[in-house]
Amino acid sequence: MAYSKKVVIIGSGPAAYTAAIYAARASLDPLVFGGVALGGQLMITSDVENFPGFAEPIPGPELMERMRRQCDRLGVLTIPEYVSKVDLSRPPFYVETTEGNSACAAALIIATGAKARLLGLESEGRLIGHGVSACATCDGFFFKGKEIAVVGGGDTAVEEATFLTRFATKVTVIHRRDALRASAVMAERAKRNPKISFLWDSLVTEVLGQDSVTGVRLRNVNTNAVSEFVCQGLFVAIGHTPTTGFLTGQVKMDENGYIVTDGRTRTSAAGVFAAGDVMDFRYRQAVTAAGTGCMAALEAERYLAHHE
Ligand code: NAP
Repeated sequence: MAYSKKVVIIGSGPAAYTAAIYAARASLDPLVFGGVALGGQLMITSDVENFPGFAEPIPGPELMERMRRQCDRLGVLTIPEYVSKVDLSRPPFYVETTEGNSACAAALIIATGAKARLLGLESEGRLIGHGVSACATCDGFFFKGKEIAVVGGGDTAVEEATFLTRFATKVTVIHRRDALRASAVMAERAKRNPKISFLWDSLVTEVLGQDSVTGVRLRNVNTNAVSEFVCQGLFVAIGHTPTTGFLTGQVKMDENGYIVTDGRTRTSAAGVFAAGDVMDFRYRQAVTAAGTGCMAALEAERYLAHHE
């Protein structure tokens, strides 16, 4: 099927759905290519307690289901397919999915998000949402009075470790080398924090526990010595990967592959907007993603009004 639309949105997280809600209410009849696994990162989050409007915690998948139903009610057409090919050289912008469906769009909103990198362990996957997390802001609150380990040595790891000391009795940063990659000022702050300690030259080879985390198995990279470390939570902070592989050469990206925007969600291609984690490595929150999704839809509406 080949669609011709005023607005096409790529993605299905809070940024994409919010953009779709605003575009639909502006009578722009948006089409969403949401990917096979609709819902984005919140689909692997347990309870969400910081999205305004929900007095009680709401499971991430349920929050996304509600956003999807809101889009359905407003008549948004959502196609659960991945976009694999685009031509953004000039409008109308061409978008094609792996299934061979395509669309031409007068304005395009990219909200494909970023994936937290994980260690790739079977035990890590099994315990995600049950003591394993990749977001301290989202899940730190659930670790009051517990001992936590954070894997990684970059800014995210030390920032998350520092944040987690608000809740945890003790936070141990486990890093595969003997020096942090994090910026000096953030590293120093973490090192001065009496609740934070460091385990150097160590790889997490297994997350221990059946239904919840009870510890991690470590291997020292110098001696190969194997040990067990007791903790009730493991935060994996080894970076994020923005989903922008299909955009190579089409819009300006930074050295880490995040789309560069101008503060009004406008990309280097006029008529192409970006919202959510795909352009924001700093906040990465459902509510900020939703906020930039709203901005992108309003900017697209403005752009179309000027170009029609
Ligand atoms: P990052 O700088 O890429 O650091 C990733 C860390 O994880 C590195 O220490 C790396 O070890 C480690 N690592 C990677 N793969 C691993 C694996 N498989 N097993 C164990 N450890 C692994 O990522 P980031 O910390 O998320 O930061 C990304 C960007 O955002 C950076 O430019 C950062 O400055 C920025 N940022 C800024 C702020 C802020 O300014 N407030 C906050 C967060 C992030 P190695 O060191 O050995 O490579």
